[in-house]
Amino acid sequence: MKLITDIEEMQAFSNHARKMGKSIAFVPTMGCLHDGHASLLKKGKELGDILVMSIFVNPIQFGPREDYASYPRDLKRDLAIAEANKVDVVFNPAAEVMYAQGFQTYVDVAYLSKHLCGLSRPGYFKGVATVVAKLFTIVKAQIAIFGEKDYQQHLIIKKMVKDLNMDVDVVGMPIVREINGLAMSSRNNYLNNDERKAALCLYTALMKGKELFENDIKESGIILQEMRSIIEAEPLAVIDYINVCDINTLEDLDKIQDTALLALAVKIGKARLIDNCILG
Ligand code: AMP
Repeated sequence: MKLITDIEEMQAFSNHARKMGKSIAFVPTMGCLHDGHASLLKKGKELGDILVMSIFVNPIQFGPREDYASYPRDLKRDLAIAEANKVDVVFNPAAEVMYAQGFQTYVDVAYLSKHLCGLSRPGYFKGVATVVAKLFTIVKAQIAIFGEKDYQQHLIIKKMVKDLNMDVDVVGMPIVREINGLAMSSRNNYLNNDERKAALCLYTALMKGKELFENDIKESGIILQEMRSIIEAEPLAVIDYINVCDINTLEDLDKIQDTALLALAVKIGKARLIDNCILG
């Protein structure tokens, strides 16, 4: 496995691989790897000849009061996990390498970024779309794999690729959960034992929403009220949002026809956790 920190070296590696007729599968991450990331790597290994994973905590997607400085980082452990998952190249640039003095070009997937997480994290998706566009240009992958835990992010990247005619197949992978249902996340590292137990309310609320839908309750208001009361019963939880929305546009739905996205963001201690499930 190669560890590359230099942009030109990464590009040269990818140019050579493509010249040799190899396809490149790419998994962008912020590190602090867990089994959710591993599922993307496994898919990447299946889909491409060469598997590249980036580890980059992207400063421009964090707001001034967010956790950029404290975001968990453990490169040594991540490299061991990458190796075990048969990654060919880990691309791990420094922030100053990615954002040289005077950087001023951004990608804004304007409308999809206005919903859900975009409301409480202004500028977040602009930062995400910009870094992913840069990484696509650097890694030159034909295939990129994203997790549906970040459903909105996945949708935004697909839209960016379509709107900007990027030659990349974007593949989505299902949410990987702990046995108890908690969606795996690097930010789960912030949780102490009590908070970990409290964090189960996200999954419990989603499952309640799903159960109501399957019992023919299609009014979003009723579903949201039930879900909200589950989260509110948990003293350590503070709701950022709970929404029932269209799976493609992310616009709120008053009534569900065939399908909908149930999405929520909840703060537990200093961790802001997100989770979702598709109905129908
Ligand atoms: P992150 O390192 O949190 O930026 O995530 C990197 C990629 O892993 C993104 O495409 C995430 O959606 C995906 N991911 C994170 N957690 C999970 C999970 N529990 N299940 C599936 N994919 C995940």
